Amino acid sequence: MIPGSDNPREACGVFGVYGPGEDVARLTFYGLYALQHRGQESAGIAASDGNEFSIRTGMGLVSQVFDEEDLAFLRGHIAIGHTRYSTAGGSLACNAQPVIVRDHETGAPIALAHNGNLTNADILREDLLAQGVNVESTADSELIAHLLTLAPAGTWEERFHYVMRRIEGAYSLTIMTKDSLFAVRDPMGVRPLCLGRVDGGWVVASESCALEHLGIELERDVEPGEVVQIDASGMRSFFPVQPARKLAGCTFEYIYFARPDSRLAGKLVYPTREEMGAQLAREYPVEADIVIGVPLSAIPAAIGYAAEAGIPFREGLVQNRYVGRTFIQPDQRIREAGVSLKFNALKDVLHGKRVVVVDDSIVRGTTTPRLISLIRRAGATEIHMRITAPPMISPCFFGVDLATKWELIAANKSVEEIRQHIGADSLGYLSLEGLMKAIGEPEERHCNACFTGVYPIDVQMQMNRLEVSRRPVGVADSLNYAGGP
Ligand code: SF4
Repeated sequence: MIPGSDNPREACGVFGVYGPGEDVARLTFYGLYALQHRGQESAGIAASDGNEFSIRTGMGLVSQVFDEEDLAFLRGHIAIGHTRYSTAGGSLACNAQPVIVRDHETGAPIALAHNGNLTNADILREDLLAQGVNVESTADSELIAHLLTLAPAGTWEERFHYVMRRIEGAYSLTIMTKDSLFAVRDPMGVRPLCLGRVDGGWVVASESCALEHLGIELERDVEPGEVVQIDASGMRSFFPVQPARKLAGCTFEYIYFARPDSRLAGKLVYPTREEMGAQLAREYPVEADIVIGVPLSAIPAAIGYAAEAGIPFREGLVQNRYVGRTFIQPDQRIREAGVSLKFNALKDVLHGKRVVVVDDSIVRGTTTPRLISLIRRAGATEIHMRITAPPMISPCFFGVDLATKWELIAANKSVEEIRQHIGADSLGYLSLEGLMKAIGEPEERHCNACFTGVYPIDVQMQMNRLEVSRRPVGVADSLNYAGGP
């Protein structure tokens, strides 16, 4: 758990490098270090020297999993890496990635790292088990690797054609064979993936911030449905399957997941978040003395709100930047202090002020009331909550652990009821139109399912299973989930 956190949790970050003459393990380590925000549960690196694979995985932060000895052990000119937060498969050491499986005929190994979530994983798993395949982990990523090794085809293009016709959902992948690196993005383009050039080679990463940390120029995004193959003969690209009927880039990457210094579809995230704040100020103006943002992801939007509204931006909350995952349960006194484990309020800034508080989401509604009481205790006279996203009314099946409809507060309460629940003087959510305007892309290119309940592919089966498995004790089967606010 992360104390005081009710944020949506991202599934993973992936990285890969093909770099003869480079210290690929070290590059991958620092690439993962820059992608730590995408997953803090486990990390792993696999490397190939053209003959042998070496791999190190472990539970915890990138800096906790690897030491100099590990990097020396991971020899070669190709490496892939992964940081994980589990949405499918559970928090288990056996689910740490990259996964390695062997070709069922030749014994040649394949290593694979996955960001996303397959929506037909259960069917694929049953099929593989029926074929006598030994599936070791409970995560869906291993299934993709097995399918690649089982593909009844010769060329890699044919293999990916076989696999990408079978798997459904969200997948941004880095894959390593003994002599090649692959970067693969699902045809809907749900999760990001980008390419950069290193001397004599290439680097692939979930986000461009990982390239910039390494002094590597962003070349371009991997396109939805594209497979990029990099080996001794250079880089080539192919599109093994028909384009998706609908592109579905995750809008939440812009709101919260991606780092503000990353570029998504060529655009820097930071000014997009500022524009979300400006749009919120136009949609929900209010008379106030200061604007504050909930650190760290809502700060750019708060700055945008303040500039548009002509109200001073101040830092009213300080985040304990070293709060990470802990399995130590807080005692009752600490639990009651709640969100103050993560944030402290600056009394001198807030006392006697009418405050606009900008945040990026209210998921279950468990931490926002505590945050608001923290700001009130610091002496704020009015608190006006502004959210840089529409109300979340539906779960995510594409690699983000949001919550079920039972748990999502906006699926069960009106905006006015939420305002009362969190204890704010006013509450405003950015409209979907305003959000898309701030992002500057047509809605048709994006997934907005958690705000609209309209999914880019059929997920009814997964929806039923999720809602039944996480239904609170004592709630009747016949209750209708379809409702919202
Ligand atoms: S449902 Fe929401 S979080 Fe999931 S991919 Fe779609 S926009 Fe992103």
